[in-house]
Amino acid sequence: MRVLLALGGNAMANADGRVHPDDQIGAAKLAAGSIATLVASGVDVVVTHGNGPQVGNLLVKNELAAPVVPPVPLDWCGAQTQATLGFVLLNALDAALARTGEARRAAALVTRTRVSASDPGFLNPAKPIGRYLPAEEARVLVEHGETWEDRGPKGWRRVVASPEPLEIVDAPAITALVDAGFVVVAAGGGGIPVVADPDGTLRGVEAVIDKDLAAALLAGHVDADVMVVATDVPAAVLHYGTPEEEPLGEVTVTRMRELAAEGHFGSGSMGPKVDAACRFVERGGQRSVITRLDLITEAVTGSGVGTVVVPG
Ligand code: ADP
Ligand code: MG
Repeated sequence: MRVLLALGGNAMANADGRVHPDDQIGAAKLAAGSIATLVASGVDVVVTHGNGPQVGNLLVKNELAAPVVPPVPLDWCGAQTQATLGFVLLNALDAALARTGEARRAAALVTRTRVSASDPGFLNPAKPIGRYLPAEEARVLVEHGETWEDRGPKGWRRVVASPEPLEIVDAPAITALVDAGFVVVAAGGGGIPVVADPDGTLRGVEAVIDKDLAAALLAGHVDADVMVVATDVPAAVLHYGTPEEEPLGEVTVTRMRELAAEGHFGSGSMGPKVDAACRFVERGGQRSVITRLDLITEAVTGSGVGTVVVPG
């Protein structure tokens, strides 16, 4: 069995969302323990992860250091966080695998995700990133070509394109590593967004890709049987945020699409996870599970945890 596991931001931060290096190392250790248990049960695992808070921190460094060192573009921030989080996960995974007596080792790959240069997101950037700034400070960055929006009392926030992921460019290398027995960490932060020039040359672009949608794409490329989206809640619920909240167990993809259209899932949080889970099953996957990080082994064995999207 082959599993694509998407780790949410909480798997790379402490319980309060802090991302001090020690918090990230501690969170990676916790995740790695569960992943090693899965691997020891004979499952091939491909891991992907979010990078929102980490990119947010790099953007602050860019802003503060701009008079001294040139700011780097958003695609470079993606590459840098893939490498750093990949490194942290490699150490944690190798140690956890060794503890279970597994001979398998981990590998991390800097991964590009192709998007379309004509994606509507580039004309209407809508994905908020980084920290809030007072209007005067945001204005300077707008003069440098960035798009910032007035978000009310909290201040201004940068918005960027979040284009549709079309292809995980490095999927063949990922598949080769999995076939060779590695636990592979790839497409972190949804992958580094690239567009193809007319001659086929790839070029990084200023955008962020939704990691859950990229995970669904990667799951298809590596021919995963099951996709698990690990987050900080045990299941998606209906009537979220109301007294009528009701956890959702097994549901067909047809029904899940209806529920999504009814607006049960937060856009930018649970919404993309549900969309990703549906896409994976619509493209031939057996089952997608949305659940809490500590429940991933149960999610894979199918012991009734989480929200489970199945064909039908
Ligand atoms: P991650 O960092 O794992 O991607 P997100 O914060 O993006 O996590 O998404 C998980 C969050 O989605 C939950 O903590 C919850 O606050 C929110 N959410 C929105 N709608 C729902 C829903 N219908 N059911 C459960 N959680 C929901
Ligand atoms: Mg998220």
